[in-house]
Amino acid sequence: MTKLRIHQIIKQTRANGPDVRLGIWIQGCSRNCPGCINPETHDISGGYELKPTEILSIILENENEIDGVSISGGEPLDQSEELRELLHLIKSKTNLSVIMWTGYTRTEIEEKLLFEELSKLVDLIVVGPYIEELHEPKGLTGSSNQEYIFFTKKYTEQDLLDIPSAEIIFVDGEMQITGINTEQIKSWFE
Ligand code: SF4
Repeated sequence: MTKLRIHQIIKQTRANGPDVRLGIWIQGCSRNCPGCINPETHDISGGYELKPTEILSIILENENEIDGVSISGGEPLDQSEELRELLHLIKSKTNLSVIMWTGYTRTEIEEKLLFEELSKLVDLIVVGPYIEELHEPKGLTGSSNQEYIFFTKKYTEQDLLDIPSAEIIFVDGEMQITGINTEQIKSWFE
């Protein structure tokens, strides 16, 4: 069975989508956008591997405490076969909403022949590479070229404006700063 390379899974986050969500950061990204806030997720040999069914088990163990799942990275679509398997499992075994980020544009996703399938499995995708010159954190986007594609009516753009731009959480005793605009919080510790 195929495995997904994972950077980390955070069981409860409030800064990566509306409400309380389980966050999955995929390991590996081929795009190398200058200024990316998650460079530690780029190396495809980093992180660790999990089967989609193992990730589903983690989601199900936490299902009662979360409203949805957020998938970012790294680049989820660089592991599209394994990702597809995970998304089908989440859709068929839970009622959770799914939000996903990708550095690929809408046109590139259509060229990969993934758009139609994603439209049935995901509530919202945030598409487009991070462009440092267009840095403008807002809602779930980090630069102004990035756009939302809403596949369901679960969320509106207004819902996304109310999300905290960053958060400090502790995972296994280690402090983590996550969110779209982590710079200010990170500067407190420099
Ligand atoms: S696609 Fe996303 S993870 Fe990859 S370099 Fe660009 S911003 Fe970073």
